[in-house]
Amino acid sequence: MLNCNRSSLNDKISQFSAFGATKNGGVTRLTLSDEDIAARDFIIDFCQSKDLITRVDDLGNIYATLKGTDGSKAILSGSHCDSVINGGNYDGILGVISAMETIDTLLANHVQLAHDFTLVVWTNEEGVRFPPAMMSSGIITGEFTKETMFKVEDREGITFGEALAESSFQGEFENRLVPNDAKAYLELHIEQGPILEANQNDIGIVEGVVGMVNYDFIVRGQADHAGTTPMRYRQDALVTAAKLLLQLHEAFSGLADDLVFTFGEISAHPNLHTVIPDYVKFSLDARHKDAEVIQQVVDIINHLPQTINQCQIEAIENWARNTVYFNPSLVNAVSDVTKDLNYSNQRLYSGAGHDAQYISKIVPTTMIFVPSKDGHSHCEIEYTSLEQCAKGIDVLLNTVILIDKIAD
Ligand SMILES: [Zn+2]
Repeated sequence: MLNCNRSSLNDKISQFSAFGATKNGGVTRLTLSDEDIAARDFIIDFCQSKDLITRVDDLGNIYATLKGTDGSKAILSGSHCDSVINGGNYDGILGVISAMETIDTLLANHVQLAHDFTLVVWTNEEGVRFPPAMMSSGIITGEFTKETMFKVEDREGITFGEALAESSFQGEFENRLVPNDAKAYLELHIEQGPILEANQNDIGIVEGVVGMVNYDFIVRGQADHAGTTPMRYRQDALVTAAKLLLQLHEAFSGLADDLVFTFGEISAHPNLHTVIPDYVKFSLDARHKDAEVIQQVVDIINHLPQTINQCQIEAIENWARNTVYFNPSLVNAVSDVTKDLNYSNQRLYSGAGHDAQYISKIVPTTMIFVPSKDGHSHCEIEYTSLEQCAKGIDVLLNTVILIDKIAD
């Protein structure tokens, strides 16, 4: 079993933390911003210094290949280098660094793979500057159209297409990932939750990404004067929405232990001190790996009364996503390697979305998670220790070596 070089890993983590560094030790590296471009240029310099064959596709995705001995399919690994506003030093970028470290370790140990090994950087995973998230892996896999996505504007009115054209990272369509040329895609990522740490496990063997439903609830009442309308005459949409929200919270709490659900967005109309609210809308995001549990959530929603407190209730399903299951042989390969390395581990599902979930539709895919301190992510205090990062990379690296030996 090979181990990655801890000090070179430490250098890379701190080098990348400079691109978009914030006051409190995090990063703001929005897609195709100067900071993102600086991080990308650093990756390109690395690839050139290692004589990798580097290509960029029409979406700005970078693919840098270390040639194998038999020119067969490529094993791909990577993640994203954009971040949220005031994000941390590990989300996404650790997956990019882990592919770089894999290349460094293979070269330093004179290990020649039969397959090509390709580092990938996906453009605009976070979707903060240009929504939606996982934009370019989504275009490649047919989730979104390029036409629509290139028209998405940031807050200044610059479109994704314009930002890409202005950068040095608009390449050729022909350079896109070709499923038939790819043997596997492996993505290392921080867990972004507290489970591994709570169980004192260093490695998460990721079996898939949980399914979810997304709803809007609309409550319609009657606007009236706040001073002249006695309480018993009111049709207060906000009070009714509050009751409904708590009623749903209680009902969902009685379902599976590991069901997670969030009422994250709410608006009230007319949102004035002196007017009884007549219209309230709030959102629901519910996630679980088992379709039956998601169905129970849907059943509860479908059995809601049409009126509460004389207010009309409407539930609108915005979208739903089935659980994505990663490639079982790859999941088992990661598990075997982790056991051989004697690293504490557990199997789990990702609650967050990742490029890997789209790529899994066209290439055999899996992910490796490393712990997030106190479960924090998408914030400046996001942290994974050097040794935990290194163990994750050891697993990635040795999984690459293991699957390299398996015939296509
Ligand atoms: Zn990420």
